[in-house]
Amino acid sequence: VKQHDRNGYRFFSARMKEALEADLFLERELQRALQNDEFELYYQPQVDLQLGCVSGLEALLRWKHPQRGLIAPDTFISVAERSGLIIPLGQLVLRKACRSYQILDLLGLGHLRIAINLSALQFRDPLFPRTFQQIMTEHQVNPAQIELELTESMLMTNIEEAIMILDQLKQLGATLAIDDFGTGYSSLSYLKRLPVDIIKVDRAFVKDIPDNENDMEITAAVIAMAHKLKRKVVAEGVETLMQEQFLRDNDCDYLQGYRYSPPLPESELTSQIARIDLE
Ligand code: C2E
Ligand code: CA
Ligand code: CA
Ligand code: CA
Repeated sequence: VKQHDRNGYRFFSARMKEALEADLFLERELQRALQNDEFELYYQPQVDLQLGCVSGLEALLRWKHPQRGLIAPDTFISVAERSGLIIPLGQLVLRKACRSYQILDLLGLGHLRIAINLSALQFRDPLFPRTFQQIMTEHQVNPAQIELELTESMLMTNIEEAIMILDQLKQLGATLAIDDFGTGYSSLSYLKRLPVDIIKVDRAFVKDIPDNENDMEITAAVIAMAHKLKRKVVAEGVETLMQEQFLRDNDCDYLQGYRYSPPLPESELTSQIARIDLE
């Protein structure tokens, strides 16, 4: 049924109303899920290319919905951001990552670093550095073991303010990483001003290696530039041996992707980590 007038206004407003209602529904569902403790972290191993073994984990959020099963973050993070729920959700992620770290530490895996994803709202929250410090102290976790991933676009939005926040977090001892690197612009020239330890080359550049010459050149250039600035590099989305070989030839530091492991529930970590060995 065509409901729109000649200018299409009613059509769009009806669509917008629907979208808003869907958001509101999801927002209430998220609130309920927070109360019911339905969120869980999965962990994807990162492999040290030189050592050939796992050196870190990226925490990836999952919603264990009682009816709908496991829900991926892309479907709810944006609504959590728009509604502000990302703040309590983000704190929950930090706490859960700390608890997992404590367990790994007890099992003799305390050298592993756990990376967590921060949302833009969380990063710009003036209370965030203090909250981060409090949660680390509460759990007696060395902040250096928790790596904070910030996307390139988050950092480029207001670069002077971003540098101030990064400095603050660095002073607290956090390890900092730029996520999705290469997807924004003017990033290479800004890189030297950002006090980050690690750069994550986006999967978009890795996925077409070795078919896309451009992507290979960009990836090689990012690695070389990062190393000149004394930063480490993680390549994301590594799926094939050819990609691994290319990244090895270009001195990439860490690899992450389905080739080594999908994101895993905490219970499977120790057995799977022991299995991963590049040689
Ligand atoms: P991201 O940070 O870029 O995370 C990498 C995504 O790529 C993950 O999807 C991961 O499962 C997937 N992936 C890993 N290896 C491969 C591979 O070899 N091939 C392919 N095709 N994909 C791979 P996931 O878990 O669905 O997460 C999607 C996004 O949601 C993340 O992208 C991140 O931006 C966001 N996210 C996840 N957890 C959190 C969180 O706790 N807080 C916030 N704010 N955002 C989160
Ligand atoms: Ca990430
Ligand atoms: Ca990423
Ligand atoms: Ca990405």
